[in-house]
Amino acid sequence: MDKDIKHILNEYFQIDNKVIEYVNLKEEEIKDKFKHIDEVKEYNQCKVLKSMQESRLSSTDFNWASGYGYGDVGREKVEKIYSGVFNSEDALVRALIASGTSAIFLVLSSLLRPGDELISITGSPYDTMQEAIGIKGNQKCTLLEYGIKYKEVPLIDGNIDIDKAIDSISNKTKMVYIQRSTGYSSRKAISVGDIGKAIKAIKELYTNVVVMVDNCYGEFTEKIEPTDVGADIMAGSLIKNPGGGLALSGGYIVGRKDLVEQVANRSTAPGLGKECGLTFGMTRNILQGLFLAPHVVSEAMKGALLVGAVYKGLGFDIIPKINDHRSDIVQAIKFNSPEMVKEFCKGIQSASAVDSHVIPMAWDMPGYENKVIMASGGFVEGSSIELSADGPMREPYFAYYQGGLTYEHCKIGVMKSLNNLYNGNLIDKNKLTI
Ligand SMILES: *Cc1c(COP(=O)(O)O)cnc(C)c1O
Repeated sequence: MDKDIKHILNEYFQIDNKVIEYVNLKEEEIKDKFKHIDEVKEYNQCKVLKSMQESRLSSTDFNWASGYGYGDVGREKVEKIYSGVFNSEDALVRALIASGTSAIFLVLSSLLRPGDELISITGSPYDTMQEAIGIKGNQKCTLLEYGIKYKEVPLIDGNIDIDKAIDSISNKTKMVYIQRSTGYSSRKAISVGDIGKAIKAIKELYTNVVVMVDNCYGEFTEKIEPTDVGADIMAGSLIKNPGGGLALSGGYIVGRKDLVEQVANRSTAPGLGKECGLTFGMTRNILQGLFLAPHVVSEAMKGALLVGAVYKGLGFDIIPKINDHRSDIVQAIKFNSPEMVKEFCKGIQSASAVDSHVIPMAWDMPGYENKVIMASGGFVEGSSIELSADGPMREPYFAYYQGGLTYEHCKIGVMKSLNNLYNGNLIDKNKLTI
């Protein structure tokens, strides 16, 4: 490694030489995997640019509207461009959708009616979705409270159990739900190819069942998206992958026109639909972020590989494994101890550009049953396409690492996390001596 880089890592960032050398060694081991990531990036960059050009994105689209926001051309362009990128008939992309959970719940609550059945075929959904559905916690206005029925089909060896999924469908089943990413679980992301196989098998028998995908953390990690392989509707967060680090807030929903229309009606009022809703000048950030997203996602994926290789090398189990096909930006590390999850997250936080001096603590986050620790010293609060790490305080004590706007930053984060565990005598120091 260049001596000037080493000097600043040593002197300013206080990273031990052994840690620096170890991380550099692990980097050499994964570099051949960067080529595939770069190909996916290049393809997705073309896809995004094509959609912007086809939609005739213009400088005047960045102007503000006010009031009802009727005829906000910028908002209409954003939605057209998202439709193009995700190969869907229509899109609802709004800065005022509060989060990924809010976008997903908006879809569920718009499309399901009392008596309808929802089946998750990727096992238990993400923590916040369990509260929103009503199977955990005791919130009001959950799907269950509205008389919607819910069941789950567990994964089999980390894959969708297509036979069981099909067996579970009845004439009450309105929607099948697929979560692409790991979430706070111990399974790898479901590939878009596998999502496609499940959808095909279901649609062959049940053409009317709506298939919805939670696409959080999955965008641009592959050349295709679930909507390319038959998903009827899909939702995600703008402060994750597709916001490219620049979107300040928001969520997106893409899919079939008739379904997006219902979601839009629910989000404003029946009859108003997509026609109003102020963008508060966010059009530029949302689109510049989308433009950068394929690149940013590729950087984050390289960072995920690096952190995976480093902790695998130290003897920890990781999900996904180094040679697994990746379909999200998350790298889970099984630490088996709350102390290690906390110290890992503190190390990541200390590498942040913003709030690097802050020490993250596990707290009762809204929507989560267990206390959660989150390291996210982002320019945008809570943005997990920026370098971040988190984990619920429950067995088996996984830390979930994701994001990083630049690979170089990821690398500093990985070093800082390891240095923290090293200084705290929480890892086997001998394993660092090569
Ligand atoms: C992040 C995430 C969500 C939504 O989380 P928000 O924090 O509400 O944006 C939903 N599902 C999965 C799999 C996620 O990773």
